[in-house]
Amino acid sequence: MSDSTPRGTRIAHLGIAVSSLEGVLPFYRDILGLPETPLDDADGARIVGLVAGESLVELLEPDQSDSPIGKFLAKRGPGIHHVCFAVDDLDATLARCKAHGVQLIDATPRIGAEGKRIAFLHPRSTAGVLIELSEY
Ligand code: ZN
Repeated sequence: MSDSTPRGTRIAHLGIAVSSLEGVLPFYRDILGLPETPLDDADGARIVGLVAGESLVELLEPDQSDSPIGKFLAKRGPGIHHVCFAVDDLDATLARCKAHGVQLIDATPRIGAEGKRIAFLHPRSTAGVLIELSEY
């Protein structure tokens, strides 16, 4: 449901892999003072959203060890898992990525934790950063 006025690509959220939401939440919520916002769980992860201005911080705790976040934690430990950019036209951006040989994890958009259409790009094509694209 995007309107036609271009707003420009912006950082929608940072996804941070954590082994325990309860252990990490007090730092972001109480010490840094980021208000919590409800988000749906997705991709085998429990997700807490925190509002940081126009962007969110998403804390991602694995539900199962074989989920994407569970595997990331096992391999790399806690830390930044992905950066999500909101774009004006997700389908056009994905088409541009494809045309330029960017490796797509999701060839077609699906519904993410904020209920918006999203698609992931492979870190191999993006300087080692897992990138999620989202509709506004
Ligand atoms: Zn995300």
